[in-house]
Amino acid sequence: MKIIRSIKKMQGICVSHKGKKTIALVPTMGCLHQGHLSLVKIAQKKAAITIVSIFVNPTQFAPHEDFAAYPRNEKADINKLKALGVDYCFIPKDSDMYPCGYQTVARVNNITTTLCGKSRPHHFSGVTTVVLKLFGIIQPDFAVFGQKDYQQFLTIGVMAKDLNLPIKVVMGKIIREKDGLAMSSRNTFLSQQERKTAACMSLALHHIKKLCLKQNMPVKKIRSLFFSELSKHKGVRVDYFECLNANDLSKMTQYRRGNTLMAAAIFVGRVRLIDNIII
Ligand code: AMP
Repeated sequence: MKIIRSIKKMQGICVSHKGKKTIALVPTMGCLHQGHLSLVKIAQKKAAITIVSIFVNPTQFAPHEDFAAYPRNEKADINKLKALGVDYCFIPKDSDMYPCGYQTVARVNNITTTLCGKSRPHHFSGVTTVVLKLFGIIQPDFAVFGQKDYQQFLTIGVMAKDLNLPIKVVMGKIIREKDGLAMSSRNTFLSQQERKTAACMSLALHHIKKLCLKQNMPVKKIRSLFFSELSKHKGVRVDYFECLNANDLSKMTQYRRGNTLMAAAIFVGRVRLIDNIII
C-alpha cells in the first residue's frame, strides 16, 4: 500500500490510472473499525484500485464540537489498511485541503435540513465540500459510504446527481458490536458504564422494527415508543427520533411497510451517537 500525503501526487496517480483501471474511494476520518473495513471490502469488489482517504475534516465540525478531541490513530489505521491490501491511503494535510484564502463551499439544500442537519446546521456543507474535493482529486468511479450515516449517503448521492458527477455512490450496511451498538470512532469516548448503556438505541430501534412488522402504526405512536424505551436509561438524552421516507427523507404520518427509515441520535453522557434502521 502506498501512503500519499500530497494532493498533487494523488491527483497524478489517479490520472495515470484513468481509463485503464476503475477506482473506488472510501472516504473516512480514520480511527478505523470493522465498519470502515467492511466498506473497503465492498470497494475492492467494485473496482480494480481502492483508495481510502483519512482526513478529519475541520469544516464539518461546529466550533463547540469535538474536532480537536476526535480520535486519531494513523499508525494503527495504516496497518489495518495494509493488511486488507488497499492500494493507496490518502492522508492530506488540513493546510493543503483548506489553504489560506480558501472560500468555496458545496451545499445540498433540502435533504440536509432534517435529522442531523437540524441539530448540526454546519455539518453537511462541510461534508459535501470535502467529499467534492476528494472526488475532484481522485475522480473515482465508485465511492462507498456507510448506512450508519444514512443522511450523508443520500446527500452525496443527490450532489453527484445534481452536479452530473460520473461516480456511482454505493452504500454498505451498518456493522454492529455484539450487543447491537453501531460501531463508531466516537464509541471510544464512552466510559465503561456509558458503553453498556449505549446499546439502548439499537435495541429500541430493533424492538420497534419488530412491532412495525406486525402491524401498521401511526408515526406518533412509534415516536412515543422510542422515547419511552430510551427514558428507561439513566444518562441518556434523545437528540432526535424520526420515521421518514427512506428515499428522500420526506415526512410520513403512518408507518407503511417498505422503505421506511427510522433514524435517531442520542447523547450518552456527553457523547453523541447516531443509528438507524430501514424497514
Ligand atoms: P467516518 O470515519 O465516521 O467519517 O466514517 C467513514 C465512513 O464509514 C462513512 O461512510 C460512515 O458511514 C462509515 N461507517 C461508520 N461507521 C460504520 C459502521 N458501523 N458500519 C458501516 N459503515 C460505517
